[in-house]
Amino acid sequence: MEYRDKGLTVNPIYNAASFCFIPAPEERSMKIIPPSFEILDDLDQQSLAIRIEACGRICYKSEDKITESSAEPFIRKIIKHGHNSVAEMAVVTIRVAVENEAAITALLATVPRYLRIDRLDALTLLITGSVRGFREICLFHPEVPMVQAISAYLAARHPLFYFDLTPADGWKDRPGINVEKVPLAEVEQLAPELLARHRHMAVKFVVNRAITHEIVRHRPCSYLQESQRYCRYSESKFDNQVTFIKPLFFEEGGPEFLLWEEAMRETERLYLKLLSTSTPQAARTVLPNSCKTELIAFANLVEWRHIFKLRTSAAAEPSMRSDDPAFRTIP
Ligand SMILES: Cc1cc2nc3c(=O)[nH]c(=O)nc-3n(C[C@H](O)[C@H](O)[C@H](O)COP(=O)(O)OP(=O)(O)OC[C@H]3O[C@@H](n4cnc5c(N)ncnc54)[C@H](O)[C@@H]3O)c2cc1C
Repeated sequence: MEYRDKGLTVNPIYNAASFCFIPAPEERSMKIIPPSFEILDDLDQQSLAIRIEACGRICYKSEDKITESSAEPFIRKIIKHGHNSVAEMAVVTIRVAVENEAAITALLATVPRYLRIDRLDALTLLITGSVRGFREICLFHPEVPMVQAISAYLAARHPLFYFDLTPADGWKDRPGINVEKVPLAEVEQLAPELLARHRHMAVKFVVNRAITHEIVRHRPCSYLQESQRYCRYSESKFDNQVTFIKPLFFEEGGPEFLLWEEAMRETERLYLKLLSTSTPQAARTVLPNSCKTELIAFANLVEWRHIFKLRTSAAAEPSMRSDDPAFRTIP
């Protein structure tokens, strides 16, 4: 508005912060896309490091930076920065056999909230935890013999995740506690109740911010989301524009849809103008619920069942149980 008021025909606006030219609104077509989702089961076949990097980069939309050797530095960096939720995106299942009950009692006394623990028999446990879950039990309860045995086992196989946790006198050997990995193929053969607790699935949603706000209310999940603090939508990798999710409430081309479209266009204009003098985290304060965002939700099958039960009922937000064919196919 301001540039028009001054009688300037400043088309395009020069965006000093991102060194790119932003076309004036009337020259720009808005990006409106339908919602979608993808079950990330391909990642189940990848190493823990590759999986964590692939999920973690959604926050910064820096997937283009993935190379054959980028996972390790990426993971070291996010751990050093304390962005630990990224390390929740990969789980490991182990079987731990002990010689006496005391070892199990000592582990359970730590109240390991973020590990799934089931007894296979009197002295054998099935434990599933994320990289973060195993790292933090090592960090907070290093004196517990079973924690020492599990940490030593995992550190030997995945030194990257323990680079900052190795005790000064090395990992302790714990005779009488036998740890072994349970491969995914074996997890999938577990009895239904155990399978539901130990098998985890990641789903990537491309939806609007209102929907992700509802999804993240489900607590026993791990989440990573595209960050409006870091992503600068004036950059060329975002096609220099904000992307919006087509609302299912309005018929395309109808009067309500046109009103919505007008609001989004104006919002985008203001956002891009703010970006010319402000940071993305400041400019995002004008972005609406309809803004497209990407979210990865990672949970076990028990929690997914709970989510489907709540979010496919008639009481749920219609966009959540959208008629879009993509959503209709969620099992
Ligand atoms: C139709 C509908 C309308 C809604 N409307 C609103 C609204 O108006 N305002 C609003 O704020 N939210 C609303 N919500 C969100 C809702 O309140 C829940 O936050 C959300 O659905 C998460 O579900 P949940 O609490 O059952 O379980 P989750 O967070 O998915 O947890 C799964 C299970 O873990 C257990 N659990 C997890 N955390 C705890 C805990 N701290 N204590 C005890 N047990 C726990 C419970 O057994 C729970 O069932 C709505 C949800 C729906 C489906």
